[in-house]
Amino acid sequence: SVPASITSAISAGTRRGLLIKGGGALETIGSVRTIAFDKTGTLTAGRPRVTDIVGDQVGRAEVLRLAAAVESGSSHPLAKAITAAAQQEGMTIPAAQGAQALPGKGASATVEGRALSVSSPRHAAELAPLSPALLSTITAFEEQGRTAVVLLDGATPLGVLAIRDEPRPDARAALARLKDLGIQTVMLTGDNTRTGQAIGRDLGLDVQAELLPEDKLRLIASYKAQGGVAMVGDGINDAPALAQSDVGIAMGGGTDVALETADAALLRERVSGVADLVALSRATMGNIK
Ligand code: ADP
Ligand code: MG
Repeated sequence: SVPASITSAISAGTRRGLLIKGGGALETIGSVRTIAFDKTGTLTAGRPRVTDIVGDQVGRAEVLRLAAAVESGSSHPLAKAITAAAQQEGMTIPAAQGAQALPGKGASATVEGRALSVSSPRHAAELAPLSPALLSTITAFEEQGRTAVVLLDGATPLGVLAIRDEPRPDARAALARLKDLGIQTVMLTGDNTRTGQAIGRDLGLDVQAELLPEDKLRLIASYKAQGGVAMVGDGINDAPALAQSDVGIAMGGGTDVALETADAALLRERVSGVADLVALSRATMGNIK
């Protein structure tokens, strides 16, 4: 049977917005060596906004109009930022045919008879040569912690959009608290290395960037073998990593899939909830021993 102190710790957690799905999760969370975080929607607020648009062959309005068409069927946070920006400018977004998501890379569709894609610079460079001028524009955005995506028409770059998602206000302090608790923290992101490191420097944690979904699973497995790992995420795309880690923690406002897969959830959407969980676990297990 479950010790009374565990049952009452779980109730105490619930009152503070920490939903813990069982004694096993409560026990494990205080003993992991590493806590891995998704970036978008977890360490950041998950409300990315388009900050800059640069046209290469066409004007910036045309870059936004076409990119929004490609992204109109996607629920990816970057896609939502791009369609919202087009709507805000009052544009009519043209219809897209054959829209496809390329997980960890971008999206593509046929729009007004053109085979368009919106993707990471790395993926774009596999499809088309990017000019030195375009590359330096991209690098400048990334060094500011912005995510740059490239609009291509076949193998012709049409422009670049920069997108910024602000870190959650409590993220930096919460990560410092976890360090004080002796826990190694790392951000796992599909975003590019320069953007990831700019944000990691701001927040004070290690960064593993340019990861495909399978790379994230491989890293989780290795942290698991090196003292145990908890993973914190919010999206559908985080569900496999949440399931694979010793303890999966869902950021409360996230998708149902993340909430269902996770062993614990932070209903108040604060990064500090992760440190609260560790402290609650250690206090409870310390009482039992
Ligand atoms: P993260 O791990 O930060 O959640 P993803 O793995 O979802 O990121 O995506 C990694 C990168 O792939 C993004 O930074 C972006 O460059 C590109 N990408 C993925 N999906 C899209 C999309 N729908 N539109 C544009 N770019 C995308
Ligand atoms: Mg996310």
